[in-house]
Amino acid sequence: MILIFFGPPGAGKGTQAKFISKKLDITHLSTGDILRKQLLKKNELSITLKNIMDRGRLVTDSILNNIIYERLKENDCLNGFILDGYPRTMDQAIFLNTILKEKNLVIDYVLDFMIDEGTIIKRIKARSIIENREDDSEDVIRTRVVNYYNETKPLSYFYKSEFASAYRIINGNQEIQKLNTEILKILKKH
Ligand code: AMP
Repeated sequence: MILIFFGPPGAGKGTQAKFISKKLDITHLSTGDILRKQLLKKNELSITLKNIMDRGRLVTDSILNNIIYERLKENDCLNGFILDGYPRTMDQAIFLNTILKEKNLVIDYVLDFMIDEGTIIKRIKARSIIENREDDSEDVIRTRVVNYYNETKPLSYFYKSEFASAYRIINGNQEIQKLNTEILKILKKH
């Protein structure tokens, strides 16, 4: 099964993706996690990336597209995967379409997590205490939310119109367990 978990920071995509990937035995591909791993290597690229990520900006499309291109070649993606945090721009969405077509793969579901802005800020503040992420301070959270609405949200309309049969809205304001149940219900219909 191929799933895209789409939505603003703090919507619960990562938590749900971890759970669903275990449940369905498919790979969880979080571009945020992949990039954070890259930061542990102390090289020129990681310094550039850290600068962008700490400020809550988006890393360039070519870097992200290359990460996904290479990652989808790995054997653990053969059984299916969940994209969490990618695509985030129209360029990435188009690139993804192209590589999926090349591989004869189809997106089964695009789950669009909708969440109130107040809840986003509250959730990310709570997460920042647990995970100590440098991009979880309040001003950076606001930048990330603004970026989401400017650059990423338009993809929501793209998937809704181009992938109407795969597109589902998820209520991200719910607590984890309820969100979980809602997602499983959708996937079971498959
Ligand atoms: P996340 O953990 O998904 O919130 O991602 C953390 C940070 O990694 C983001 O704020 C961006 O700086 C960067 N990032 C992750 N995924 C992408 C993407 N698809 N496109 C651009 N930047 C990304």
